[in-house]
Amino acid sequence: MTETDVVIIGAGASGLMCAIEAGKRGRQVVVLDHANKAGKKILMSGGGRCNFTNYSINPGNFISNNPHFCKSALSRYSQWDFLALVESYRISYHERDHGRLFCNDSAKDILNMLLAECAGAGVVLQLNTGIENIEKLADRFHLKTGQGAITARSIVVATGGLSIPKIGATPLGYKIARQFGINVLPTRAGLTPFTLPPDEKDKFSPLSGIAVPCMVCNKRQSFNENILFTHRGLSGPAVLQISSYWRAGEEVVIDLLPQVDLDTELKSLRRKKIKNILKTILDGYLPKRLII
Ligand SMILES: Cc1cc2nc3c(=O)[nH]c(=O)nc-3n(C[C@H](O)[C@H](O)[C@H](O)COP(=O)(O)OP(=O)(O)OC[C@H]3O[C@@H](n4cnc5c(N)ncnc54)[C@H](O)[C@@H]3O)c2cc1C
Repeated sequence: MTETDVVIIGAGASGLMCAIEAGKRGRQVVVLDHANKAGKKILMSGGGRCNFTNYSINPGNFISNNPHFCKSALSRYSQWDFLALVESYRISYHERDHGRLFCNDSAKDILNMLLAECAGAGVVLQLNTGIENIEKLADRFHLKTGQGAITARSIVVATGGLSIPKIGATPLGYKIARQFGINVLPTRAGLTPFTLPPDEKDKFSPLSGIAVPCMVCNKRQSFNENILFTHRGLSGPAVLQISSYWRAGEEVVIDLLPQVDLDTELKSLRRKKIKNILKTILDGYLPKRLII
C-alpha cells in the first residue's frame, strides 16, 4: 500500500496547479487520473492555443451563487502571478480582444510548463488509474484504485465538469461529494454553442462559417459580440457567453443589426438601396431579429 500526504484525483489544469502548490509547501503529493495523458482539456483549449489568462480579471467575471466565493483566491493568486510563471518558461504569447492572452505556438507549452513545475515540486503523477472506492478511517483517506491501494491525510477532488466524456470527464467528483455529505447543485452547461432544431439547422446551414457582430440577449443579460453560424447551430463569443445565463426552454433574442434602427435607416435611403437591403436582410437568410 502506498502512503502519502495528499492524493489529488484529476490531472487537469486544477489538479496540476493544486499539486504544484502542495508540493512546494513540502507535501508528498500523488496525482491520480484514469486517462492515459494529463491535461487533455488544456490541449484543446483556446482552439489549441490556450487562452491561459486575461489582463483584466475581477470577481465579477465569475458566475456563482456566492459572488464572494472567488475573492480570496483571486487576491492570493492573480493573473500576474500566472503570467510571471509563463514568462519564466519563455512561452511566447499574444493578446486578443478583451485582454485575453493566448500562446503563440501551442497549448502544449502550458501543459508542459505545468508538468515541469510538478516534477520540480516532487509530485508523482500516476495515469491510467481508475478510482474504485474511497473511505475515511480515523484521520486518513483510503483509496482502492485499479493500480492498488493508497492512503493519504488529505484528498483533493479535481475531476472537472461533465463536458466531453470522450477525453475523460466523469461525474466521480459529484459522487464523492455526495458520499461525504457535501451538497451538490444541479449541473448545467455553460460557455457552450447552441444546437438548433433540424428545420432551423437546415435553414441556416448555408451560412455555416460566417461570423456577424450581433446583440444577443435573454431577459437577464445581453452581449454585443460576434455570433458564428456553424453546421450544427450557433457559436461565437456572444453565443458562448449567453449560454451560461440560459435555461432550457428560454427564449434568446439575436439582433443582427444592433447599431441600426431599421425603420429610420430604410426611410433615409434611396429606393434602389432599400431594395438591396431588403434583399439581403429581410428576404434573405438574416431576419433582423432571430428568436430561438
Ligand atoms: C473546447 C474547450 C476550449 C476551452 N478553452 C479554454 C481556454 O482557452 N481558456 C480557459 O481558461 N479555459 C478553456 N476551457 C475550459 C477549461 O479547459 C476547463 O475549465 C479546465 O480545463 C478545467 O480544468 P479541470 O482541471 O477543472 O478539469 P479537467 O481538465 O476536466 O480535468 C479533470 C481530470 O480529471 C480526470 N478524471 C475525471 N474523472 C475521473 C475518474 N473517474 N477517475 C480518475 N480521473 C478522472 C480527467 O481525466 C481529467 O484529466 C475550454 C474548454 C473546452 C471544452
